[in-house]
Parts: sequence; structure tokens; C-alpha cells
Amino acid sequence: MQANDQAVNIEQLYQVYRQYPAVQTDTRKLQPGDIFFALRGPNFNGNQYAQQALDAGAAYAVVDDPAFFTQPEKMMLVPDALEALQALARHHRQQFSIPFIAITGTNGKTTTKEMIRTVLGSAYRTYATAGNLNNHIGVPLTLLGIPPDAEMAVIEMGANHQLEIEGYCKVALPTHGLITNIGKAHLEGFGGEEGVRKAKGELYDHLRASGGTAFVCNDYPYLVDMSKGISNVITYGKEEADYTGASTPGTALLELETKETGRIVTHLVGDYNFPNVMAAIAIGLHFAVPPEKIKPSIEQYIPSNNRSQIVRRGSNTFIMDAYNANPSSMKAAIENFAALDAANKVLLLGGMKELGEDSLKEHQALADLLQQTHWKAVVLVDGDFAKIDHPYIFLKTAEDARRWVEQQAFEDTHLLVKGSRSVGMEKVLPDQA
Ligand code: ATP
Ligand code: MG
Repeated sequence: MQANDQAVNIEQLYQVYRQYPAVQTDTRKLQPGDIFFALRGPNFNGNQYAQQALDAGAAYAVVDDPAFFTQPEKMMLVPDALEALQALARHHRQQFSIPFIAITGTNGKTTTKEMIRTVLGSAYRTYATAGNLNNHIGVPLTLLGIPPDAEMAVIEMGANHQLEIEGYCKVALPTHGLITNIGKAHLEGFGGEEGVRKAKGELYDHLRASGGTAFVCNDYPYLVDMSKGISNVITYGKEEADYTGASTPGTALLELETKETGRIVTHLVGDYNFPNVMAAIAIGLHFAVPPEKIKPSIEQYIPSNNRSQIVRRGSNTFIMDAYNANPSSMKAAIENFAALDAANKVLLLGGMKELGEDSLKEHQALADLLQQTHWKAVVLVDGDFAKIDHPYIFLKTAEDARRWVEQQAFEDTHLLVKGSRSVGMEKVLPDQA
């Protein structure tokens, strides 16, 4: 992604945007008065919808195909509509001299972003990425949504290939940044774990070059290492950091304590959320949010969308973590579940996608890890679990797993449900009794 200010008459486009400050790239979601950007994808050409967008009430359309430049007074023809969108986003971002905090990493970006939003939001007008809008379209749309009175901006950046984060940094120009962690995900697109490190490190490269500030988890030596040379580094973690905290082992919901905030009981499952929460505490304290505001803002946050949610059904407790999975987050979830202080534990694990040539190896490693703990039952669903050695039940679909759960008639049991998005492991959850 390359912002190309020269090619687009950015002043003119910005004037249009100031008059119509809502931007849409999808005609199905278009509201009257929006500016429509005609983007292209592998299977569509947005230019074809530009006239339709205007007919549906769009105030203006930006197209990059002269054949569809049909209404010059309501359209702008640019060399590349995506680049125009990104250039406009960058231009809007440059109107603000407030902290811009960028978040990337393998796991926990959205959770950390939401924690930071709630903490900073208790003291500042804080604007953050909506949901998971963290890609080449989501990042510019996020930036274009920043209201004039914002005092803090928190931007999630996702990536599955090299130079993606670098491109987002050129548009969002973050003043502060945080890499949650580096693990195994999208290995196909990144070219292995070293590739993941390089790609996420592009955020640190930006901060290094621009004199920005990095918030670095001291518990991950690789992050400490990678952050060398950044002029301002603020650390957080379990020990020897600028901001330290400790979590209570064995609890289903994360509990932690820092000297500034005292004890905090969260609604987040799992010790692996400790660095996510600690990051938000560190950022809050750094920006002088009063500790007595930090504590309740974290305690009231309830995760959504099957991101490590606790759901009770009768006497059973489901840990619904069906939002996504990769080798690192699976390992974290299983280790956390193993450490949970509970008698009957069942795992329902869906396959992990996008692992390329490492897929069999990673599924096997997970099955081997499972065998280190005694479980009441383990069910593996879909994906490459079909092709590896393990002593567990294998079922083809999440629906099969749901039927299996229904047949078992469990009582007083904890069930961990996790898998890649496409496996749809959330279907395993029985209906409300
Ligand atoms: P995406 O790539 O889809 O944007 P994300 O990085 O935003 O994902 P979240 O949506 O915050 O991540 O969390 C998704 C899942 O990742 C959680 O439900 C949990 O299983 C796992 N997870 C969150 N934080 C961590 C962590 N620090 N270490 C390992 N796994 C984690
Ligand atoms: Mg996310």
C-alpha cells in the first residue's frame, strides 16, 4: 500500500470530505450523503457500482476507471481509488496533533485495543478502531472516522504479509505503538515465524525512524530485543518493568494486581490476557489516567464475539474462544485451561487454518501437548486433525461436535471451545436451557 498524494488532488478531495465526512466502500452499507470509493478486489470492480451508489444517495463517488466516470460534477477520477482513500485518510490524520497509538501483533490486538479504549476513555475523548477493521480498507476508514474533538486515537493494524504494517504506518503516522506478541499465525503469507517477526517489527521501525514511543512487554525478550534503538520505550510486565503487575494463578477469569491500581478482577478468561490488560494499565498510567479510574474501566469490560467468553449452561461452564485460533493462541488457551482449578475438563478444538507447509507439524505438536495433561475428554474437529496421530475423538464438523456434547449430558464440567474462524466452533454451544 502506497499513499500517493501527488497523483490525487488531495486538497480538492479533502474539501469534499469536509462537506460529506462519511466514507463507504460497500454499496450494500451505503447511507445517503456518504462518499463512495470504488475499490477493486479479486472478484469485483467497485467502479461498476459508482453510478448505483450515487443513485442510492451517495453525495460523491471516487472512481479509477474512466469508463465509469459518468457524472463529473459528482465524481472524481483518480489513478487508484484505494490509494486515494489512503491519501485522504492520511491527510485527515495530519489535522490532529494528539497521540496516535497503533497496535499490532499475532494475538490479542482487538482485546488490547478495547482495554486501552476503555482505560483512556475514562479520562480522554478516545477514538478507536471499530471492531476488527484492521486491514488496508479498515485502517483508512478508521482514520477517516476520527471526530474533530478526539484527544486520543487507538488504531488496530492486522497483517498477513510483509510491508503491510509499514504501509499502515505511512497512513496512520502513529506516535505510539504496541506489539502485543509475536507468534505463529498466517505462516503461509509471512513465510514462517521469522517472517512474522519482521512484518510486525515494521511498527517498531516506524517508531524508531520517527522518534516515537513504544510500549513493550518486558516478559517477551524478543520484543525487548526488537525494540532496541527506539528513542522512547516504556515497559510493562511481571517484573523489572516501568509498570509491573501480577496475576492470580488458577482462576477462570483473570485477576491481577498492580501497586498503582490495586486488585482488578476482569471478565477476561485466561492468564494469557495478562499482558493485554497490563498494556492498557501501562498506557493509562503513562497518560496520567487516575488509577482509581483505570480499575473500574477494566473491571466493567465484557468481551464479545466469542473472544474468550464464559458462558454457563446448567451446571457446565463453556469457555467460548471460537473467534479464531493459531498455534500460539491454542497453546496459550490449553495451558491456561490445564492450570484452571476445576475437576472435569473437556476440550473441543477445531482445526487451525492458513498454516501452509507447517500445518501437519503444528497440529501434531498440539495433539502432543494435549497428552501432557489428563482431560475428561478431548474432541478434535475438522482441519488437519484428520491427518495426524492422536488418541482422541475426531469429528468432521462443529455440528457433529454439538451433537456429541448433547449426547454426553455433562454435569459440573468446564468445556474449552476453540478453533479457526472457518470451523465455526461457536455452533457447539447448546441453546439456552
Ligand atoms: P485478529 O487477528 O482476528 O484481529 P486479534 O489479534 O485482534 O485477532 P483478539 O480478537 O483480541 O485478537 O483475540 C482473539 C483470540 O486470541 C482470543 O480469543 C484468545 O484466544 C487469543 N489471545 C488473545 N490474547 C492473547 C495472548 N496475549 N496470547 C495468546 N493468545 C491470545
Ligand atoms: Mg482483531
